Amino acid sequence: MSVGFDSTARRQALDRVNNYIWVLGLAALGALALAFLASSALEQTALLAVASALGLQIVLVRGMVIVRNVAARRDMRAVMRFLEHDVAPSFLTNAQGEILFQNKASIDRFGGCRGKTVNRSVASLFANPDAVVLRLRSVAAEAGAAREDIVTWRGHIRLTVQHVQPGFLWRLEDIAERPDRAGDGIAIPMMTVSRSGAILHMNEPLRLALGRRVKRLQDIFEELPLRDGFVHNLVLDGKTLPMRVFQTEGNVGRSEVYLFPSEAPSTDDVVGFLPVLDDLPVPLLHLNPDGSIIGANRLAHNLLPQLSEGTATVQSLVEGLGRSVGEWIGDAARGRGLSRSEVVRVARSVPERFLQIALGRVQIDGHASLVAVLTDATELKTLEAQFVQSQKMQAIGQLAGGVAHDFNNLLTAISGHCDLLLLHHDKGDGDYADLVQISQNANRAAALVGQLLAFSRKQTLQLERLDLRDTLGDLTHLLNRLVGERVQLTLSHDPGLIPVRADRRQMEQVMMNLVVNARDAMADGGEIRIETRCEYLEDDLSRDRVTVPGGQYVVVSVSDVGKGIPKDQLNRIFEPFFTTKRTGEGTGLGLSMVYGIVKQTGGFIFADSVVGEGATFSLYFPADDGDDELDDASVTALPPRPSNASQVPADPRMLIPLSAKSAEGDAQDVHAPMKAENPTSAPRHKEQVVLLVEDEAPVRAFASRALRLRGYTVLEAASAEDALEQLSDKELNVDLFVTDVMMPGMDGPSWVKLALKDRPAVKTVFVSGYAQETFDDDRAGVPNSVFLPKPFSLAELTQTVQKQLH
Ligand code: ADP
Repeated sequence: MSVGFDSTARRQALDRVNNYIWVLGLAALGALALAFLASSALEQTALLAVASALGLQIVLVRGMVIVRNVAARRDMRAVMRFLEHDVAPSFLTNAQGEILFQNKASIDRFGGCRGKTVNRSVASLFANPDAVVLRLRSVAAEAGAAREDIVTWRGHIRLTVQHVQPGFLWRLEDIAERPDRAGDGIAIPMMTVSRSGAILHMNEPLRLALGRRVKRLQDIFEELPLRDGFVHNLVLDGKTLPMRVFQTEGNVGRSEVYLFPSEAPSTDDVVGFLPVLDDLPVPLLHLNPDGSIIGANRLAHNLLPQLSEGTATVQSLVEGLGRSVGEWIGDAARGRGLSRSEVVRVARSVPERFLQIALGRVQIDGHASLVAVLTDATELKTLEAQFVQSQKMQAIGQLAGGVAHDFNNLLTAISGHCDLLLLHHDKGDGDYADLVQISQNANRAAALVGQLLAFSRKQTLQLERLDLRDTLGDLTHLLNRLVGERVQLTLSHDPGLIPVRADRRQMEQVMMNLVVNARDAMADGGEIRIETRCEYLEDDLSRDRVTVPGGQYVVVSVSDVGKGIPKDQLNRIFEPFFTTKRTGEGTGLGLSMVYGIVKQTGGFIFADSVVGEGATFSLYFPADDGDDELDDASVTALPPRPSNASQVPADPRMLIPLSAKSAEGDAQDVHAPMKAENPTSAPRHKEQVVLLVEDEAPVRAFASRALRLRGYTVLEAASAEDALEQLSDKELNVDLFVTDVMMPGMDGPSWVKLALKDRPAVKTVFVSGYAQETFDDDRAGVPNSVFLPKPFSLAELTQTVQKQLH
């Protein structure tokens, strides 16, 4: 930036006239001298007079110049005297730029610099001083003066140069009053802002308030553009501060923005707002950007009675599901995510309630605020929770189904071959004990697979009419052993207990899992109470997001006085793999298995607990009205399970997971594997032909050996296609198909249906590691068929086959 001085032109014109006069004067004196030599005395006198006049003229003009120079020097000295006390460092240089004089401030700042050039003296201050000094000096030489604001290493300086004949006066100012740095001495927070919203400068108070330098307005204001005289929210460490903004337009598109703290809009300020909305058929809240509630309309009060208790903020009213309410409101106040509504849980609400909240921003009298539109989302959330739960169960079910299928094949082969070996070993035999061990452990593995199927509700239940008093009575001895001596087990029954329709073995499993959990919750011992009672529900009972339809129920409750279950865990305990027990102590499958069995039985389960006082699990089973037509098809279709079956051990403890709930020591001595019948004493069926179709070679090998031992003629096929190929021989006589259900290529029911076209009288035994229900529909089209779940023992297989054929 440079400025000109009026006196400069005048001084330059004077210099030029001065020079002409000298030249003219000298030329005139020369001419006079020549003329004097050549002329007469009179003429010489006349010429002398002219010369004197010219000389006088020259002396006069020259004298003026000298006087002016003297005055200039005097001016310079005066300037120097004045500058001596100037706080800005100043130098006086000659025309070449050498420093002739420097004031005190300059000596203090740069040390003595006489004889040095200005550029060298200021070189420590800013980059490229030669160019700057040269530029300024040439402008000053032309225009009389020049100045430039320069960015230095430590701030800004203004370098001014004035052409002071015969040299230059340099003045160096630290800028305190730069136009875009105005306000540094002011206590009011202010900043200089460019047209594009870039913050060019923030004064000290604003910098201190923000605790950092900020580059753009949008980083600190929720709402732009800023409007003069309006309150805008300044965002500071996640909090918002209402500030009244005053703006003055500066030069080159810059403006100065002054901020005055303002009160947040109070209810009084906006009192006119809500009454207008009071009659709208939508629940509405009016909020400050920090979530504090300014007001609520009538329907919002109906929806949230807590509002009348003077709840101050939305944050204390509702809880975010995964995301904090404060964060969400803060975002909305800044204009982010306004198009999305959030579902939140109403705080401290029993039963649980959910709201869907959509937020919008409003400006009232310059105050930014939010309007929240509320919708009751409890039903939606309940449905969602049920959906998620069923999805979870389905996913686990698929996993469990897959694992169970493979395991069941392996276990069938292991326990089957073990059974075959046991046929040839007597109790006195040295290998007998080892074979028993193998068989027992195969059984335990089968029990684990059973658990997987249980909580995925994919197992085949054998429903029967049960008096739970009997079931529990039979189990008492085992339960007592399970809980140990420090825990006392008390049973109390409703004398008029109505029977239920359930799978006895699974009911035993449920009770054992609940009792073992209760035992584990009471490290120091205590009492476990098992109670049965009849309960008639006049109306539907809604709790824990489920509805128990009205009607007659048999309720079994298991209570303990243990450590209890914290509230936040109560709705998770039934989830598969949720456990608070240490690794190796809990699998998190116990309660999910209970849940699966209860659900599959058509019942409901609820948990109540007070931390430190204990927990109660209440199981609701629909009472059985004795209508035998309800008899489940699967029950009749299934072969009677032999009491000594190896698929599910006779001792219910074998069903307990191997970890926390196992009573390993007990299991070993109680359970013994089935001793297969002596093949020689077994009936022979030489004339009967069984076509065995199984893709798993070990299973096929065992099954065919087992059936041959019984005297059947066994034809083997590794696939459905193979079987059909063999059957294409019309002469081939087959009495029974024993086939796996799921096989690569064509599945069991499909090939059997094809084969039955030519051989309608042939009966079928389907075997599968999957639950029966998974192929019930397919099997429906196959007459004279039964289902044998894997893993099966030698005896189960031969008995099922025998039963089908005879
Ligand atoms: P696991 O027993 O293998 O952990 P469960 O599914 O049986 O798996 O139980 C899940 C969790 O529920 C347990 O880890 C425990 O925290 C809690 N729980 C279950 N029953 C009780 C009870 N009676 N008292 C206290 N907590 C219990």
